[in-house]
Amino acid sequence: MSRPTFAIIDTAAFVANYRYAKSLAPGARALAVIKANAYGHGAVVLARALAAEADAFGVACSEEAMELRESGIDSPIVLLEGVFEPAEIANAAMHQFTLAVHSPQQLDWLLAARPARPLDVWLKVDSGMHRLGFDPREVAHAHARLQASPNVAQIVLMSHLARADETDSAATPNQIDCFREAIQGIGGPTSLANSAALMAWPRSHADWVRPGIMLYGSSPLETPDTRLQPVMRLESRLIAIRDLTVGESIGYGGRYTCAVPTRVGVVAAGYADGYPRHAPDGTPVAVNDRLTRLIGRVSMDMLTVDLNEQPQAQVGDHVQLWGDRVSAAEVAHHSGTIAYELFTRITRRVHFQYR
Ligand SMILES: *Cc1c(COP(=O)(O)O)cnc(C)c1O
Repeated sequence: MSRPTFAIIDTAAFVANYRYAKSLAPGARALAVIKANAYGHGAVVLARALAAEADAFGVACSEEAMELRESGIDSPIVLLEGVFEPAEIANAAMHQFTLAVHSPQQLDWLLAARPARPLDVWLKVDSGMHRLGFDPREVAHAHARLQASPNVAQIVLMSHLARADETDSAATPNQIDCFREAIQGIGGPTSLANSAALMAWPRSHADWVRPGIMLYGSSPLETPDTRLQPVMRLESRLIAIRDLTVGESIGYGGRYTCAVPTRVGVVAAGYADGYPRHAPDGTPVAVNDRLTRLIGRVSMDMLTVDLNEQPQAQVGDHVQLWGDRVSAAEVAHHSGTIAYELFTRITRRVHFQYR
């Protein structure tokens, strides 16, 4: 017997979500963003499932890209933050990684390198997020330097949107306009859209879209999209049940005190598995596929749920923390965070099962 805390990963759902993402931007190519171990889902398994049809994969760094190459993935891979030191460039060329170039320093490194073959580059423009990317006024010059270098093969012009999930904000149209103006007169493919932009801002689609979170079945927008299929189910079981009387409280700090006689289920999942400790009373949890709620503070290895509506529930019964019955976005919303963080914080104690 082992601890019954599982992340069950549906690889077919991941592929279906990629196809759906592509259907939203017909004619565009789609970079499947699988950085951070595919948002905690397992990059190698998901890349293998999608390798035959992904136009390219996006990761954060050489280490993540190497893991894919070493697993036999030969698709194009874009390092979305480029290299962190010039010594990475030779290896990147050897393994045919595409490099983001977001700063004058990275540009100098690339032009000074002696790679075995020219590298494809995604030249990043800062159109208003003010994190990475060239100042719009410097883009034409940076592009010209890249184009003149024997170290550079193809160049994609890219930018990243800060507020694409806010569908009534002017920030995204402003960023799109800024980007278009910055690249005026420069030819070549372009890329702007993350998942939120792909779903909400058709004007941003351009030549390459870059879906991440939606591939895992979670919508970055406020309204859920039923065509997205959750890829991860975080599941466990009831390991104890007790009946408390009025006035008794549960767990550390006694955060929840029973106002009525309460049947409490103890679930083998806690913050050391990646369930958010800040989840408040009332956060949805599914027991035997029926919705109930978290009551009491989440502890390291356990959490507690209200079983008053399920008097027949027994030790060993099935609990879903998030997945198809409870969306990760909803748990995240209750806990003051986003599904991205929940997914990437699953810890190694959780058993992964791929289907
Ligand atoms: C992570 C990332 C994405 C994907 O964003 P989602 O919101 O998960 O779709 C797209 N582009 C870049 C540059 C990224 O770093």
